[in-house]
Amino acid sequence: MPYVLAEYVWIDADGGLRCKTKVMPGREKVELKDLPDWNFDGSSTGQAPGEDSEVIIVPRAVFSDPFRGGNHVLVLTDCYDPKGNAIPTNTRAPAVKIFDQAPAEEPWFGIEQEYTLFKNGVPLGWPNAKARSFGGPTVQMGFPGPQGPYYCSAGADVAFGRNIVEDHLRYCLEAGINVSGINAEVMPGQWEYQVGPCTGIESGDHMWMSRYILNRVCEMHDVTVSLEPKPIPGDWNGAGCHTNYSTKAMREQEGSLDSVIIPAIEKLGKKHAEHIAAYGEGNEARLTGKHETASFEKFSYGVANRGASIRIPNATKEAGKGYFEDRRPASNMDPYIVTSKIFDTTVL
Ligand code: ADP
Ligand code: MN
Ligand code: MN
Ligand code: MN
Ligand code: MN
Repeated sequence: MPYVLAEYVWIDADGGLRCKTKVMPGREKVELKDLPDWNFDGSSTGQAPGEDSEVIIVPRAVFSDPFRGGNHVLVLTDCYDPKGNAIPTNTRAPAVKIFDQAPAEEPWFGIEQEYTLFKNGVPLGWPNAKARSFGGPTVQMGFPGPQGPYYCSAGADVAFGRNIVEDHLRYCLEAGINVSGINAEVMPGQWEYQVGPCTGIESGDHMWMSRYILNRVCEMHDVTVSLEPKPIPGDWNGAGCHTNYSTKAMREQEGSLDSVIIPAIEKLGKKHAEHIAAYGEGNEARLTGKHETASFEKFSYGVANRGASIRIPNATKEAGKGYFEDRRPASNMDPYIVTSKIFDTTVL
């Protein structure tokens, strides 16, 4: 008898990803409409009280399962209580409400997810002093050479974890994630991939599933992934989630740079503190004004300026239309919150 394996994925109370498998017997393949709501034990994830522990998960987006292959699927869901109310950790439902208010704006998002690979408690490729201490009691991390040679590098002494990064790229493409590129980052052991441009809520859906795939790929390699915005204190770059954004008018209207894009950026400036508060936990340690960031205390924007809160790309300046980059979001941000908030502030 044929069957399809549907891996239901949901976001937990801490922005982690959980999953469980549903065997769907008698099926050759499935689409979103074939996938029933399901539930999990919310008392085990901090998402429901023990006496009423069922959390309902509702399928929202289906991807091919690159791990199992064939017609098996990964199913992105969001979480409801038994009465049908979105639970507090469900940030997708409010984001959909925001995007649904102005679909004709056709908001595009391209998100640059930075992340750090860890093995034995240190970033991948970093010397581990403990491993070299012949059983001594001190657990101390050693340091690699200073930053400079690692960004977009190639070579065993500078690029650490490429096999993982390549696997992640391939699995994302096989799943149907709209991934647009990868690169090694400034801090050794840190990498980036980009997802987009995606329209509206699709951006968050693809981002979350790409993070799930990253966790699974790292599991296969026995390495862990950290989305901490400042995983190593000191003179080491933090990890962000630059969010590139445009509406149809920004992309297509002649002279939109002055008439649409800059006014939108100025609206963002007026709500700087509110946005920063929604852009990821621990982001203050990253947004210091050093390491290609702007200080979290002060809003700024500029053309081609990687030390500003918002960067207008040279190409947008030259064409007089295009998109801009919000450089403030942290690597651990919730893309549903960030994309819908940018849309809300700039358009609604
Ligand atoms: P950076 O130069 O900041 O490193 P990247 O190349 O890493 O930029 O990422 C740029 C992202 O912006 C990509 O995901 C790309 O798909 C996206 N992007 C390109 N054009 C637009 C647009 N008009 N609107 C929104 N996002 C866009
Ligand atoms: Mn059980
Ligand atoms: Mn980038
Ligand atoms: Mn980057
Ligand atoms: Mn960027």
